[in-house]
Amino acid sequence: MEIFETVAEIRNTVKKWKKNGLTVGLVPTMGYLHEGHASLVKESVRNNDKTVVSVFVNPAQFGPGEDLASYPRDFGRDKAMLEALGADAVFHPSADEIYGGNPLTKVYVEEMSSVLCGKTRPVHFGGVAAVVSKLFNIISPDKAYFGLKDYQQFRIICKMARDLNFDIEIIGMPIVRDKDGLALSSRNVYLKPEEREAALSLNKSLGIAEKMAENGERSAAKIINAVKSAIEAYAAAKIDYVNIVDPENLKDIDTLTGPSALMLAVYVGNARLIDNRIIGS
Ligand code: AMP
Repeated sequence: MEIFETVAEIRNTVKKWKKNGLTVGLVPTMGYLHEGHASLVKESVRNNDKTVVSVFVNPAQFGPGEDLASYPRDFGRDKAMLEALGADAVFHPSADEIYGGNPLTKVYVEEMSSVLCGKTRPVHFGGVAAVVSKLFNIISPDKAYFGLKDYQQFRIICKMARDLNFDIEIIGMPIVRDKDGLALSSRNVYLKPEEREAALSLNKSLGIAEKMAENGERSAAKIINAVKSAIEAYAAAKIDYVNIVDPENLKDIDTLTGPSALMLAVYVGNARLIDNRIIGS
């Protein structure tokens, strides 16, 4: 496994692979890897000749006052994990390598980026779209892997790839959870042991909603109320939003008429946790 820090070097390597007819999978990450990331890497290794994993804490997707400086990092551990998973290359650039030269171009997927997490994090998805479009142009992968844990991000990337004609297959991978049901996230390190139970209310409330939909409940408002009560039962949990949206365009829906995305963001202590489930299918 090789480590690349510059755009020119990773580009040259990928070009050589492609000249030899090899297929390339890309897994973009911010590092501090866990089994959720590993599931994406494994899928890429299984389905491509070569796998590139980017490890880059992208400053553009953090707003003022967010956790850019304290975001957990451990590149040594990430490297060992990626080597064991069979990744072929790690792209680990500096912020200057990616954003040097005073870029003036913005990539922003309208409508989908200003709802849900975009309301509390207005710069976030513009930063995500900027870095992912750069990675797509630098690596030119055949396939790119994203987790459905970040469902809004996944849908925004799918739309961006379509709008901008990226010739890349975007693949969404299921949410990987801890044994107790908490969705794995690098940010879970912010949770204190005594906050764990409140954090589990997200997955529990998704289960309640899923059952309601299975039992025929079609009112989004009723399901949302039940989800909110299940979360608010824990004093340490503070809801940012609970919405039920169209799974493709992320617009709110009132009545479930098919698969619908239940989307949650909840503050627990210093952590802002997100989770989601497709219900009513
Ligand atoms: P991050 O390093 O948090 O930017 O995540 C990098 C990629 O891993 C994104 O596509 C995430 O959606 C995905 N990912 C993070 N956590 C999980 C998880 N628990 N299950 C599946 N994918 C995940």
